Parts: sequence; structure tokens; C-alpha cells
Amino acid sequence: MDSGISITAEKLVEVTTKYASKISVKDEEIERLVGISMRNIAKTSVQRVSFWLVEERGNLLYCKLCNKGPFTKKGLYLHLLRLHKDEIKALIEDELKHEIKAIL
Ligand SMILES: [Zn+2]
Repeated sequence: MDSGISITAEKLVEVTTKYASKISVKDEEIERLVGISMRNIAKTSVQRVSFWLVEERGNLLYCKLCNKGPFTKKGLYLHLLRLHKDEIKALIEDELKHEIKAIL
């Protein structure tokens, strides 16, 4: 079960980073990654984690994990993936566990 969550978290790193960078993500994209049964849990987790990754000041985007910025959408996306991939994965994993526990 735990390794399943880890694999799911890994799959969601990129969409979470997109969400955080204000790049649009379609529900179908999440569904394609995790399957229909996990779609809603995954979406909730992705949205919650992405909120922790970015801070908007004015119209500018800053990285909440290391306070660097300002970034463009694309710049933030690349920054998060290059520097914070493991942290983001760990955050998603925690959030998925929390969400799954809540519905059991
Ligand atoms: Zn950063």
C-alpha cells in the first residue's frame, strides 16, 4: 500500500508543479495518471500541495520553499522540478496518506 502511494505521488509531481505554476491542468490529465478511482483524492492533494509551493505577490510568482523569485509561470515550473522534486513528492505522499485515511 505504502509503495503504491509513493508511486502515485511520483506520478503527480509534474501536475502539482504545473498547478503551482498556474499552468492549466485538466482533470483528465490527473485521471490518466492515477485512474478514475484515485482521481478526486489525487486532485485534492495536488491542489493542497501546490498551494504550499508558490506565493503570489502582485502578479509575480515566488517559490515558497526557498523564497526565490520572481518567476514567470514557466520559470517557476522549471525551478520547482529541478530543485524541489523530492520535497514535492514527499509533500504529495503525506497528503495522499492523509486523504486516504480520511475516507477509510
Ligand atoms: Zn525554490
